[in-house]
Amino acid sequence: MKRIAVIGGGIAGVSAAYELALQQRAGAPIEFTLFEATDRLGGTVETERKGEFVLECGPDSWVTEKPWARELAVELGLEDQIIASQDDHRRTYLAEGRTLQPMPDGMRMMVPFQWAGVLNSPLFSWQAKLAYLREPKIAEELKASALANHESSRDESVRDFVFRHFGAEVADTIAAPLLAGVFGGEIATLSARAVLGPYVALEREHGSLVLGLQRRLQEQAEQGKTPASVFTTLRNGLGGLIEGMEARIPDRSVRKRTAMNSVARAGGRWQLFASPSQTARQQPEDFDAVVLATPAKATARLLAPLDPRMAELLPQHSSSAIVAAFAFTPEQAREMRVPRGFGFLVPQRTGSAEPVADSSLDALAQRALLACTFVDQKFPHRAPPGAALLRVFFGGATAPGLLQEDNETLLSLAHRALGKILGKLPEPKISLVRRWPDSLPQYEAGHLDRVAELEARAATHSGLRLIGNAYHGVGLPDLIRAGRMAARAMIQS
Ligand SMILES: Cc1cc2nc3c(=O)[nH]c(=O)nc-3n(C[C@H](O)[C@H](O)[C@H](O)COP(=O)(O)OP(=O)(O)OC[C@H]3O[C@@H](n4cnc5c(N)ncnc54)[C@H](O)[C@@H]3O)c2cc1C
Repeated sequence: MKRIAVIGGGIAGVSAAYELALQQRAGAPIEFTLFEATDRLGGTVETERKGEFVLECGPDSWVTEKPWARELAVELGLEDQIIASQDDHRRTYLAEGRTLQPMPDGMRMMVPFQWAGVLNSPLFSWQAKLAYLREPKIAEELKASALANHESSRDESVRDFVFRHFGAEVADTIAAPLLAGVFGGEIATLSARAVLGPYVALEREHGSLVLGLQRRLQEQAEQGKTPASVFTTLRNGLGGLIEGMEARIPDRSVRKRTAMNSVARAGGRWQLFASPSQTARQQPEDFDAVVLATPAKATARLLAPLDPRMAELLPQHSSSAIVAAFAFTPEQAREMRVPRGFGFLVPQRTGSAEPVADSSLDALAQRALLACTFVDQKFPHRAPPGAALLRVFFGGATAPGLLQEDNETLLSLAHRALGKILGKLPEPKISLVRRWPDSLPQYEAGHLDRVAELEARAATHSGLRLIGNAYHGVGLPDLIRAGRMAARAMIQS
């Protein structure tokens, strides 16, 4: 009987444990235990249901294009829960002081596939518009540098990549807030290859991103592959994925409130030592194989005694996030001035690492505010008809300065920061706040090479697998897939 340990009960670890449970039920000769430090599974995935409101504390949806989250939902019997974002409301704004400027139509991230939206947008200066128009004309030059980069495996920052195509203004006005909304980080350090992989591939093929994107969309349309909506989620919240998987994992295979302190090799087996304060079991437990599904920092701590180089190869920085959500009744919503759309992003034009003159908490919150989602418009099923549900996302270099504040303070800071942009808001009927310290690993330039070396080293330790958001993407579909594949590989190896 092969004994397998999964350490870390976020979506990646739970997906691995769920797959192990399926294989066990199908007759695979295994025993397994999922160890989770806290008293609940899900990690960053957490849903609170209050009255008719569905409040996501962490992720709120997955990218429709990647099939693995949808496949899992169907497998768990949640097909009737699957809902698409309401894309006829799909407009994102950029907050410029107190004004919300719509992002132009006809764009994918910072790349236009139609000209009218960009050329008529007040968001860009004429210099930026000229830079956009020039990009297809320098396609050959861009392709040559892309091929040279590829051959020498050279990585560059997201900012440098976008700058080469469209100049500084587009990088700072559009790319920076879009990427900050996903990674909570700085485009000057994020890796283009790791974070903008599909765009780096487009550049290699076409040189021009504008021409490449136009070609790709045309091909998708011809093959009937254009997704109906960009984002997909579950009506009752993404927590449903965790609940569905947990229900199918035998109770005896889940050990919550058990933080693993260290992992060691002894006699060809893996010895796991739990933190003494969290479990009565002081003796190490032996396993044949270990899946580490912990966040980057915890993984580095666990791997360092085994192989210090592996710890160095993990992302060295992770950003922290704070999510605050406010629900308003239909009567209140009628008084509010929320425009039609999915939400807004806040450009960090000044560079959030610069010293700030005003160090008040309100100024800190204003600087840490990265984005707001108009949830009732993006996913109308998450709020009663006519009600409003707003979700605010704080992150970046200044967010850690807010983590120590109590819930009440954070909620009033978030409420005031939102009010500065959307106009004075009423007192919400329901509110919620969550802190996610060190939750988003920063894929800095050179990330993919480091991960390749890390995985090669991991492969030399028999029965060791690394999964989670530190390696090949932070999105839910990729993590579900990685968890399930790791489980299958464990059984086959
Ligand atoms: C605010 C926010 C919004 C996001 N929005 C989206 C979105 O809309 N769509 C999307 O696709 N992605 C989104 N993401 C990204 C995505 O949610 C995460 O990348 C993903 O949930 C991480 O899953 P994970 O399993 O790798 O790690 P985690 O969720 O961090 O789970 C790791 C688990 O390991 C446990 N652990 C840590 N140390 C130990 C130890 N020593 N022993 C035992 N257990 C341990 C932790 O308690 C935790 O439960 C968002 C992230 C954040 C922070």
